[in-house]
Amino acid sequence: MSSAACIFCKIIKGDIPSLKLFESDKVFAFLDIQPLSRGHALVIPKFHGAKLTDIPDEDLVEILPVAKKIAKASGAEDFNILQNNGRIAHQVVDHVHFHMIPKPNEEEGLG
Ligand code: 5GP
Ligand code: ZN
Repeated sequence: MSSAACIFCKIIKGDIPSLKLFESDKVFAFLDIQPLSRGHALVIPKFHGAKLTDIPDEDLVEILPVAKKIAKASGAEDFNILQNNGRIAHQVVDHVHFHMIPKPNEEEGLG
């Protein structure tokens, strides 16, 4: 299921370019266009839904293993996994996405 108006559905289809990191039948991952640190990635279900509560469990369970692989591949020892639901919770794009935000140590700078 996808939504014609959704920017992340367009990214999955390739209608909007992205720096793709991973793709499977249920999951897509790409670099955030406005990274909070080097390697800031978004991991999303291909199933379109605005909030976590809209996504079937069988799609959701495939997300975290991908986020884990990308976190490992980033080389960052420290990182945040973040997922916002709704405007008050700072969600801007209404297609569920998990941020993977590397937190470089001070010697490496702010990323
Ligand atoms: P939210 O605040 O909804 O959790 O985060 C949405 C994220 O999507 C933001 O970090 C923003 O930079 C990212 N984003 C929005 N539009 C695009 C886009 O067209 N391409 C990519 N790669 N990231 C996007
Ligand atoms: Zn979508």
